[in-house]
Amino acid sequence: MEKTIAINAGSSSLKFQLYDMPSETVITAGIVERIGLKDSIFTISVGDEKIKEVTDIPDHEVAVQMLLDKLISHNIISSYDEITGVGHRVVHGGEKFTESVYITDQVIADIEALSELAPLHNPANVTGIRAFRKVLPNIVAVAVFDTAFHQTMPPSSYLYSLPYNYYEDYGIRKYGFHGTSHKYVTERASDLLGRPQEELRLITCHLGNGASIAAIEGGKSMDTSMGFTPLAGVSMGTRSGNIDPALVPFIMEKTGKSAEQVLDVLNKESGMLGVSGISSDLRDLESEAAKGNDRAELALDVFVDGIHKYIGSYAARMNGVDAIIFTAGIGENSSYIRERVLRGLEFMGVYWDPALNQVRGVEAFLNYPHSPVKVIIIPTNEELMIARDVEVIRAQR
Ligand code: ADP
Repeated sequence: MEKTIAINAGSSSLKFQLYDMPSETVITAGIVERIGLKDSIFTISVGDEKIKEVTDIPDHEVAVQMLLDKLISHNIISSYDEITGVGHRVVHGGEKFTESVYITDQVIADIEALSELAPLHNPANVTGIRAFRKVLPNIVAVAVFDTAFHQTMPPSSYLYSLPYNYYEDYGIRKYGFHGTSHKYVTERASDLLGRPQEELRLITCHLGNGASIAAIEGGKSMDTSMGFTPLAGVSMGTRSGNIDPALVPFIMEKTGKSAEQVLDVLNKESGMLGVSGISSDLRDLESEAAKGNDRAELALDVFVDGIHKYIGSYAARMNGVDAIIFTAGIGENSSYIRERVLRGLEFMGVYWDPALNQVRGVEAFLNYPHSPVKVIIIPTNEELMIARDVEVIRAQR
């Protein structure tokens, strides 16, 4: 029995999902939170039960050790040897990593060197990688990058209209994120449509707390809404999405904030939270808007119109579209947002059935059979993609 674990390490958290491979069955999943703080929380699912323990977990290495001990004590595995691979989600692979890779010392050094591009995420990802290396030094470890899938974008998509040497000297370009999710739904869409990826033009809408839209032509990312960082693109839970860059010095002057503080506002106090003044959570905004709250309504309008416009522009980018895909928390669950995004796309051949839209969290077609453009909900599964990549690389070794 071979088991692979998919890991998503943050600065104070570690999410895990253990798979039996190649059956792809999820054996257990959980999260360690507040690592390095008092009263850390360890949560693991055992059967239908979620078991929670509050204890001090000083660092990621202790978290990994505790995870392995729990797998044994809950009889999920009988020995460490059953775990044959680990896959780590890494946010930024820069231009260096165009696909998942076997982790070596050099790979760790490269991921660390890319921290300049993702100062909050890459160091945390490396902490997770190191912790596993220490505790399970002999298993195959693989890094799976959020940016890798978008490395197929042409220069006209990824270059900013800036002095060219900024790209050459500082790596300033669009990288794009959520790549593992966009890739997963692309593969699933091809299966569900019964057509090879090479034939398809897709617009994939990953709508969660972070949101990004991608134009996928022939199975390859050809454009995406996020940019140099995950701040760009559409309005999000707390992120502004695209704004006029001249606003940054203007806001600094008006508010007396530093550039860093303004960036903090754009990342944490903007988006749906900023416009509504109520919440970053879509469910709160839907219920407040239903009660007649104008600002909640306005925040939803800004969010929806941004996505709608991206769909139009990406259809132009690919000279048409075969299917529009919705995924992630909002895309999978909110019939309200899907309806509003899809309204007014008949001009490009999108005909969808409101009755079919009343579903959540399942794979489902929303279009009428005769619609030239199909509309599909596909729940994303980044962890499974990570586990699959581990198996592919393990087989090659
Ligand atoms: P993250 O980017 O943190 O992974 P998720 O993909 O979990 O985010 O998406 C979180 C968003 O999904 C939140 O705005 C939340 O309100 C929304 N969401 C989750 N469930 C529902 C639901 N049943 N109806 C509407 N929105 C939902």
